[in-house]
Amino acid sequence: MKIRGIIFDFGFTLFSFENPSIEKYLDCFRRGMSKSIKALKQEKIIEDNNQILEDFLTIFNKKRATYFKLAMKTKDEFPTTLLFKSALDLLKEKGYEIQEEKIKEDFLETLAELYHSCEEEEWKPDDKTKFTLESLSKISTLKIGLISNHPNHKTIKNLLKKNEMKDYFDVIVTSAKFGKRKPISGIFFHTLKRMGLSKKDAEHCIMVGDEAADIIGANRIGMQIILKEREYEFPYEKEIKIPNLIRIKSIEEVLQYID
Ligand SMILES: [Mg+2]
Repeated sequence: MKIRGIIFDFGFTLFSFENPSIEKYLDCFRRGMSKSIKALKQEKIIEDNNQILEDFLTIFNKKRATYFKLAMKTKDEFPTTLLFKSALDLLKEKGYEIQEEKIKEDFLETLAELYHSCEEEEWKPDDKTKFTLESLSKISTLKIGLISNHPNHKTIKNLLKKNEMKDYFDVIVTSAKFGKRKPISGIFFHTLKRMGLSKKDAEHCIMVGDEAADIIGANRIGMQIILKEREYEFPYEKEIKIPNLIRIKSIEEVLQYID
């Protein structure tokens, strides 16, 4: 069967986070947050006062936990820009003075980018990622897409640009931009459509991912699926019960499945 499209997941499929652990993630976000706070102070949006900063952090972390739980349940994505906006709104409700007129969309994007900047430094492409994408991009009849469940679109784009891989993709979709997360069918259909393909073409397309959200979501809409096995297990990992699931250890193995 002729393959017309291939869609990759980002994290732990094309790029990996070295020695991932909850502590390491938390440390990245802590360091990112100090950069965001520095920007908030520089722009004089919030006062440089310990009590305000402490309250801002408490509100932000609480809101982040609420959004995270909600996202797991509803599969809605709550972008980091929204998280900053909500936290600043709540800080104002608490009676603090906020320079609201300075909180424009592009500044929220800067805050989010800074917040994810330390995480951004940790993601590295796998050895064979570039070779694989390069080889696939030479097939003129094949469309290449990416779907990432990430709350900040810019972070994914920056990483692809920095590693000179952005141009291999016909379409880059993140849950931050789309508003819903994998395994929701809509995000797959949206991506196929933007690749110039229809729902009927799903069976001629392959999804490559490392977790249940990728595999179950794509399987549900009739795509072919390939599981990239990860070195690390995630906490609370969902089991994938699909018979005869194709499993690969290294990303270049996908080339065998494209005719
Ligand atoms: Mg992944």
